Amino acid sequence: MTNLKTNIIGLSRDQIKSVLIDADLIKLNENFRVKQIWHWLYFHGVTNIDDMTSISIDLREDLKTVFTLKRPELDKEQCSTDGTIKWLIKLEDGNLVETVYIPEDSRGTLCVSSQVGCTLNCKFCHTGTQKLVKNLSTEEIVSQLMIARDQLKDWPANENRKISNIVFMGMGEPLYNYDAVKKSVEIFSDQEGIKLSTKRITLSTSGIVPQILEWGKEVDTVLAISLHATNDELRNEIVPINKKYPLKELIKACRDYPRSRNSRRITFEYVMLKGVNDSLEDAQALVDLIEGIPAKINLIPFNPWPDSPYECSSNNQIKKFGDFINDAGYSSPVRKTRGQDIMAACGQLKSDSIKIRKSISRLQV
Ligand code: SF4
Repeated sequence: MTNLKTNIIGLSRDQIKSVLIDADLIKLNENFRVKQIWHWLYFHGVTNIDDMTSISIDLREDLKTVFTLKRPELDKEQCSTDGTIKWLIKLEDGNLVETVYIPEDSRGTLCVSSQVGCTLNCKFCHTGTQKLVKNLSTEEIVSQLMIARDQLKDWPANENRKISNIVFMGMGEPLYNYDAVKKSVEIFSDQEGIKLSTKRITLSTSGIVPQILEWGKEVDTVLAISLHATNDELRNEIVPINKKYPLKELIKACRDYPRSRNSRRITFEYVMLKGVNDSLEDAQALVDLIEGIPAKINLIPFNPWPDSPYECSSNNQIKKFGDFINDAGYSSPVRKTRGQDIMAACGQLKSDSIKIRKSISRLQV
């Protein structure tokens, strides 16, 4: 029997089973035991193996010798006047990552991070000014939800839960942490645990073309594209990864996206930057660019941060832009700015962790 305890959060069912078998803890009904543990962990959200009361006391004692259910430490909680909550989470290795809960009348959304920092330097985004520190593990991604549910007293994962949706729109480019994000989605959507429908999980990417197609084949989530410009010259400036994967390739990937259909439209995110991308000519170019793709456009009023290079478009201009797109047949809701007073709004996340491993970023750009 190993002396090192494994954190069970983030393990797949097969991995849990392997730990149990390797430690010689179960010989019969392995799948049933794993199902029991899974249910306690992800449906009830227990933080202590003693609370898994449908499992015999002897087996619980044995489980304690191989597993922990430890969450990372909650470093700070900030509550906005509009109900948005931002948690700064201190990971086991000391790195800091942010997670944001956005309550609305019809749903509660958790915005999770996939990396500490980011390599991509999107010019409107505060996270982009923080160099990539590391990719988060599945455990570190899933733990963001566990902590959020603990804080909101949102267990068990039943119909009335506060967190009903998850968006990968926090710190980082999720498709640059493909495997861990994919495993997290599998855990979030497992119907015997957290039980979120994949219709309620959104992966947002700045446009990593090869992985978009792979993701579409392998994982069934909503896809959001951080678009923000309709020509390469401007997009190269706002979303520099466009130099590697220009608009033509990105839009082709969206047209070819295996799961694109009217019931699962692609969301194009478009940040409204005053005098930069908000004219009616830009709106026309946007409609032309995505013609034929089952899509909706999320208009995002720009959320400033210290020394940010842009201003937000006026409400009047955002309305005109949105009306134009609506008239062209695309739904174009304006995303309400939430949590701006605690720097939790879209594009404002950043932690104080600094880059320590150069090798990761070299691999990714
Ligand atoms: S928008 Fe996303 S991909 Fe771009 S810098 Fe910010 S976190 Fe990175």
